[in-house]
Formats: sequence, C-alpha cells, structure tokens
Amino acid sequence: MQVAAPYRLGLLHGDGIGPEIVPAAVTVIDAAIARAGAEPFEWVELPIARAAIDEHGTHTPTSTLDALAGLDAWILGPHDSASYPLPHRSQLNPSGTIRKHFDLYANIRPAKAFPGGDAVVPGTDLVIVRENTQGFYADRNTHAGTGEFMPTPDIAMAMGIITRPAVERIARCAFELARRRSKRVTIVHKANVLRLTTGLFHDACREVAGDFPDVVVDDFHIDAMTAHLVRAAGEFDVIVTENMFGDILSDLAGALAGSLGIAPSINSSDSHAMAQAAHGSAPDIAGQNIANPIAMILSGAMLLDWLGARHQDPRLTDAALRIERGVAATVAAGTSTRDLGGTSSTTYVTRAIVAAIR
Ligand code: ATP
Repeated sequence: MQVAAPYRLGLLHGDGIGPEIVPAAVTVIDAAIARAGAEPFEWVELPIARAAIDEHGTHTPTSTLDALAGLDAWILGPHDSASYPLPHRSQLNPSGTIRKHFDLYANIRPAKAFPGGDAVVPGTDLVIVRENTQGFYADRNTHAGTGEFMPTPDIAMAMGIITRPAVERIARCAFELARRRSKRVTIVHKANVLRLTTGLFHDACREVAGDFPDVVVDDFHIDAMTAHLVRAAGEFDVIVTENMFGDILSDLAGALAGSLGIAPSINSSDSHAMAQAAHGSAPDIAGQNIANPIAMILSGAMLLDWLGARHQDPRLTDAALRIERGVAATVAAGTSTRDLGGTSSTTYVTRAIVAAIR
C-alpha cells in the first residue's frame, strides 16, 4: 500500500564527515525520487551524537528516539563516540542505542566492486547479513548494563550471547535475500572452538536452510573465511554471521571492493529501517570536502528499496535502482574521491551522481 501523505524521513547528521555525506545522500535521494515520479520526502532533522551532547546532555536524546518512532525510516551519519567526554564515551554509542531501542536486528552490508572503482578483488558482489542484537559485542547482549565486567583491575571478562530465535530470524532474512540474488548462502562461525555459541548459530542457520531447498548452503570458520575473501571474494554471494564477525568481515569486504567509502548498509527490523554507511566518522579527513559520499548515498538507495518493498511502492524501488546506476556510471566515468584514486571533492562527486541519474 502506497503512503498517501509524503514519506517522512529522519535525518541524523552524526560526527566527523557525517555533516558532509548525509546532505550529499539527501541531495541524491531527492533527485532520484523526483525522476521516479514520487512526491518529495519530508525530512525531519533530529539531534544526535556530539551536537546532542552539547545541546541536550546526551548523545541520543529520548526526544530523538520518540520522534524516530513516528517516521517511515531514517538516515544516520557516522559518529565518533571514542572522542566523546566521559561518561558518554563509556555508554552504548548512538547507533548501538538506536539499533537496540528499535530492535533493528538485521544489518545488511553489501560489498560491490564498481568498474573503475579500484577494487582489490574485481568482481566482488556479495552481501553480509550481520546479526545485530547479540553475539560477542558485550554492549548489545544484555537488557540492562553490559556483558563486559572487571572484577579486579587485572581481570576483564566479556559475555557473548546467541539465541535460537535471533539466529532463526537473521537466517530467514539471509535466505530470502539469497532468493533475490544468486541463491547461495555461506554461514560464517567458529564452531570448532566456540562450540556452544557459534555452534548454535551454525546449527540454527542449517535448520532454517531446510525451508529454502532452492538455496545452496555452505559454511566456513571466520578465520578461513577472511583468507577465502581475500583470494576469491567474487565467489561468494550472501554471507550470514553473528554480530562481531559480521562487523569485521564487512570492513574487509568493503576494502576488497574498492574502499570503505563505497560500503553501504541498512539496519532493519520488520517495521523500521535506518540507513548507515558501513564506515566510521573518518575524523582524519572531516571538514575538507574530500570524503567519499558513495557509501552514504548507496545506503540511502538501500533505504528506498526497503521502503518500496514495505509500502509496495514501485516508484521508490525504481529510485533506488536509478541511484545505483548513477553511482556506477559516475565511478566508471572516472569521477571519484581520492580514496578511489580520484581527485574530485565530495560535492563534485555528489553533483556528478545527480547528473547521472536518469
Ligand atoms: P569506527 O570505529 O567508527 O568504524 P574507524 O576509525 O575504525 O572508525 P573509519 O572512521 O571508517 O574507521 O576510518 C578508517 C579509514 O577509512 C580512515 O583513514 C578514513 O579516512 C577512511 N574512510 C572512512 N570513510 C571514508 C569515506 N567515506 N571516504 C574516504 N575515506 C574514508
């Protein structure tokens, strides 16, 4: 069902290069939906990250979470939580807080090499489906408090959690995605050592696979998987794994596909979705107009695709495709920021992508 009123999307700029790449994504999305014949979006800017600490005393104000609940979806820029003053630095960071609050259990991270995009492994075209709510990230896996603790100054402990329902829902997400791609899923785990936890992850994924007999399944240990990706990333399609393995693997896959600057993602549940580039806030290049906006722009395209499917609105699905093609054409034409070997600025690349959207 298409939404009668304009879609309302949240805008969370974040830190570092966030205020440069988030507006770039909005510019491209606005152009794409206009060309696809959809009404303009209503953008709702909300406080988050360092600016919110300065104004509201917290990096993720309750008012922001409440406002997001009433929106169709939102875009989150990267945050530099390591630079926050204490105690904000020791708390769950802004994206973790939002993911946990809305139970955004699926972190979908494609890694796709573009012709002309300086890929380490040309032909890379895979998607990492990362479980986002539990696993070995101790700040995600408890209802309150953290699963990491220090009984004495010389002893530090962390707790990992894997539950069957959480694995089943992320596995379903991966298998359904595989059906729309090459019908191949690779399960990544470490069941030879973390036998109970990642063993359960592996076994529950294999059980869900039984409902998808048309999808080919294999599995690898996380350590072997890193070597396989470096040698032959092009041979993989959908990879499903737990939280921390997925985080590490997706940075590797993004770099193999050309640059972290082109690695997009969305975080979704069955009712909410958040676009978020897979990379961080890149404080080393912030404010110089040289950040690659493509990861954020492609994350926006993924959000449009999610919205299009949720509301059965083919205009948004079409707009997402237009963005992907516009980005590919721009990179193929040799227009890129320096992380991809080019010399163009953030604003120049953004303008070129808008011009390439047909
Ligand atoms: P986090 O822990 O938040 O992921 P990080 O410091 O590990 O942060 P990034 O902030 O992603 O990682 O930065 C890693 C490197 O990649 C830096 O050299 C940064 O400049 C570069 N980088 C990240 N994003 C981009 C981008 N969009 N364009 C160009 N370079 C980028």
